[in-house]
Amino acid sequence: MIWRARAWQGICAVPMVAIVLLAAELSLAAQSRVNGPGIPATPPPAAAAPFAPRPGDIGGLALEAQTWLTELLKINTSNPPGGEEPAAKYVAGVLQKEGLNPEILEMAPGRSAVVARLRSAAMAEPSKALLLVAHLDVVPADKTHWSVEPFGGVVKDGYIYGRGAIDDKGMLAANLAAFIALRRSAVRLNRDVIFLATADEETSGEASIANLANKYWDKFAAGFAINEGGNVFVVNGKVQYIGLQASEKVSMNISVTARGPSGHASQPTKDNAVVHLATAVGKIGAYTAPVRFTTIVRRYFEGLAPLEDDEVGKWMRSLDTPDRGEHAQHVISDDSPLWNAMMRDTIAPTILNAGTARNVIPGEAHANLNVRLLPGDTINTVLLDLTKLVNDPAIHFDVLPTTSLAAPDSSLETELYATIAHVATREFGGAPTLPFQSTWATDSSTLRLRNVQAYGLVPFPLNDEDLKRMHGDDERVSIASFTKGVDVLAKIVAEFAAAH
Ligand SMILES: [Zn+2]
Repeated sequence: MIWRARAWQGICAVPMVAIVLLAAELSLAAQSRVNGPGIPATPPPAAAAPFAPRPGDIGGLALEAQTWLTELLKINTSNPPGGEEPAAKYVAGVLQKEGLNPEILEMAPGRSAVVARLRSAAMAEPSKALLLVAHLDVVPADKTHWSVEPFGGVVKDGYIYGRGAIDDKGMLAANLAAFIALRRSAVRLNRDVIFLATADEETSGEASIANLANKYWDKFAAGFAINEGGNVFVVNGKVQYIGLQASEKVSMNISVTARGPSGHASQPTKDNAVVHLATAVGKIGAYTAPVRFTTIVRRYFEGLAPLEDDEVGKWMRSLDTPDRGEHAQHVISDDSPLWNAMMRDTIAPTILNAGTARNVIPGEAHANLNVRLLPGDTINTVLLDLTKLVNDPAIHFDVLPTTSLAAPDSSLETELYATIAHVATREFGGAPTLPFQSTWATDSSTLRLRNVQAYGLVPFPLNDEDLKRMHGDDERVSIASFTKGVDVLAKIVAEFAAAH
């Protein structure tokens, strides 16, 4: 239970009275008005009574943030092609109304980021500054599989629906709220707070944060950052734990090519490229890479074990033991694709390509493997393992160029980590904050490579069902969850950035 001791040390380091007063001054109406602990119960079935906030249930900033979110959801920023500029302009407009001077940073035609700053002193001290970052682009949505218009900003049955409701326009609206709350409170800051809305997170192309940083780093250089990447995990209607992302896996792609003689399909031979490729992909699909525990994943399972039922908890405690470790790793991997992917490199075949005519054996067949590497692992090791596994001279592997960056972890010992852990745990009914290594990649790798202590936390309590809708169909966030998240994030930012 080391994490508890560390997380709670943060309390003693900060004068609580000042913090509580400041939080009150922010008058985030949500803070005391959300029903019960503010955590959405299991989503109501469609036929159940819709969420009906009473007058005053949601007010002030959280309500404004809800409007910003629904307006942003109406702007289609599907990437590709992105086209984030109208969303960037909308965000800039919201900031301008607060008397701030946002700057639109052009990255490519129709593609822009937005930056704004709250100053703590005449001279900026970048190493102390806090950066709030979220992305404007979203993944495309297949309308035919949605029950509502994905770019309609639809509010229905207590939920805000739309592509980006969680990833990442929800976070963007919450960042905007936290930033504006600080501005309105006119509180004295102990560090600059920078708001940044980026473009091109989903494909990391020409308008990505890496290129933005190369061009405009001075405008958002910071020592600390809060971004997406971690989540508030809800199980059985209650927050089980807060997963605070401090590290992430690296995404790479390997192209697989099988070659053989092309010819008439009426006289097949055993060296058919399609068959070689299928056999190779079959072997790769059945392959499991060895387990390696990073410090963060070890700490994560240590913290999670006491929260799980006795059986799962027992195996989590045994994961790294010499006698029962291997069996424990099987049990835990089988229990959850997330846990499996946190412990090892993973390889997912994602594209297959071969043939042009039904009666022609093609000379080549292709597959793509999406590889997610643990921090510190290298693609060359995976390549060697795959070559040995497939053991077929007809198969060739090529590593494709990547924009995913391997970055050092953020420290678990910073003041920001302690503040987030302390506030989140306090606000989410005492649920522990655990360090989290995301299996997905985020903009934080670019920041960490520039010495930013970046932490990922989408502050909305979400259950498994909600989380699956990210990048899926009918993406949504409940109003209760959004309201609570806006409130919690604003408190985190205020407690970290206000001068005590
Ligand atoms: Zn995202």
